[in-house]
Amino acid sequence: MYCTKCGLELRQVDHFCSRCGHRTALEAPIGGPQPLMLDKSNKKIAGVCAGFARYCEVDVTLVRVLWLALAFSTGVGFIAYLVAWIAMPSDAGVRARPVIAREPQTS
Ligand SMILES: [Zn+2]
Repeated sequence: MYCTKCGLELRQVDHFCSRCGHRTALEAPIGGPQPLMLDKSNKKIAGVCAGFARYCEVDVTLVRVLWLALAFSTGVGFIAYLVAWIAMPSDAGVRARPVIAREPQTS
């Protein structure tokens, strides 16, 4: 991901360009392209279905019904859910505050 104003390379979690302060795609208005992330504000289990619904701009209930139908008919849905859960980044806190620097992990 690059700043659309000055071209500086940004991290996926950045809200603002660290050089010029230009807003990044994460701050795009509702209706614009949404990143495929776990939707923690609309989650039932992990937010996978809500994240896909937001990404595809479809109703979250439709995604859940299709996903459950796939899970119970083929079993693939359960594995796909776990894979998506592990692979998809979480949006928890992403929209709440700009990530300037991560605290060093001491654990
Ligand atoms: Zn910039």
